[in-house]
Amino acid sequence: MSEFLPKDHPRYESIRMREHLVDMVDAKVLAPEGLIAHGRGEAFDYLIGEKTPDCVLGPIRAAAAALLTAERPIISLNGNAAALCPEAMVELAEATGAKLEINLFYRSRERIEAITKLMEKAGAREILGTDEARQGQIPEIGSERKRVDSEGILIADTVFVPLEDGDRTEALVKMGKRVITIDLNPLSRTSRTASISIMDHIVRAVPAMTRAAIELKKLNKTECLTVLDGFDNDKAFAEALRFISARLKALAGDAS
Ligand code: ATP
Repeated sequence: MSEFLPKDHPRYESIRMREHLVDMVDAKVLAPEGLIAHGRGEAFDYLIGEKTPDCVLGPIRAAAAALLTAERPIISLNGNAAALCPEAMVELAEATGAKLEINLFYRSRERIEAITKLMEKAGAREILGTDEARQGQIPEIGSERKRVDSEGILIADTVFVPLEDGDRTEALVKMGKRVITIDLNPLSRTSRTASISIMDHIVRAVPAMTRAAIELKKLNKTECLTVLDGFDNDKAFAEALRFISARLKALAGDAS
């Protein structure tokens, strides 16, 4: 943590998070390219006012219902997700019964080990995607992300892939899987292709998903499925764009 950063700095949280991510690059958890992806996310966070908009509560609840009612739910971890909210990911896995799997674009043994260590420190008991002998492949994907656990993503019916790239989201949807994503950019291919898209910062959205799952566990499976069936991602996507548009119009009005 920078000794030059006063706690009352208006961008304290954002700067602190950036410094943490740089440390995570040094620790091999995050690839340097992950910093650029984070920057793109930050830009979109400005557009939504750096807080969870009400229009995202529906997708968050539907995502929690999807994980709870799935037969084989998986939470896919990349470097950014592991670096930003390891404990929250473990809590979501525990609340929903989903398994955690490491899946990296810039894949190396060193990074897999660094992320495994970080997740174990955060309380994870089982982490898939680390055993080369159990590796399966998603042939439609060109990148290293095609390498998946044959007991995890390969056979999952529901996959949560926060901060994902469009190619893999498309491939997973084509395989018939329900795909949940978190992406601050509602225009990304991932947001537009996923079955459930959550336009929010990962550090806010994952704990909100856990809270929603804890609430939904009070319902029976049929009631949870009703929550899921009532969700329309196209409608939610349109609402997300309308939210940004209305916010910009209001700000433009204030400025004129
Ligand atoms: P696509 O292929 O889906 O069009 P992309 O190529 O931009 O998207 P990446 O470069 O992998 O995909 O970037 C990941 C996405 O994650 C970006 O769209 C970015 O807005 C988003 N993102 C980055 N950091 C965060 C964060 N902390 N919370 C939520 N979303 C984030």
